[in-house]
Amino acid sequence: MAVLPILTQEAPILRQRAKRVPRVDDSIRKLIDDMVDTMVAAPGVGLAAPQVGVGLRVAVIKTDQNLHTLVNPEMVKAEGEQIGMEGCLSVPGYVGEVKRALRVVARGLNRNGRPVRVKGDGLLARAIQHEIDHLDGILFTDRLTSLGTLRKVELEEEEQKAELVGA
Ligand code: ZN
Repeated sequence: MAVLPILTQEAPILRQRAKRVPRVDDSIRKLIDDMVDTMVAAPGVGLAAPQVGVGLRVAVIKTDQNLHTLVNPEMVKAEGEQIGMEGCLSVPGYVGEVKRALRVVARGLNRNGRPVRVKGDGLLARAIQHEIDHLDGILFTDRLTSLGTLRKVELEEEEQKAELVGA
């Protein structure tokens, strides 16, 4: 278990499509454990493997008490619409307005390699979409409703909001 450095947006790996995980083995479980530690320490509500320099389709999300691990996630359903401020641990100090689906269902594999579905609305739905975007090399700054909504947040404010927006 380890807290890993989080790469910021200049890192080329954040712009690449991550590869599918062929098999969920101990090395993947270690990656998942380290990603959870890193997400909790940040603090953030989600983290994708490319953010810690690993080009594999692995994401962890924790918007409430439940920790979700998704290996090779795919969106099964997305409906409705929500517009809200979003941030990213790889774009520190900035938030911007992003339109997302309100409710989503994603499927993938859990840490034991078993198929799982994660269903969420609101913040959880936003985090799932944000993390799957990371696996496709997309950052929230690509999805702003308009560039004008991107703004710098003060450190204290950022800390207060980190749990809402950092992913
Ligand atoms: Zn992010």
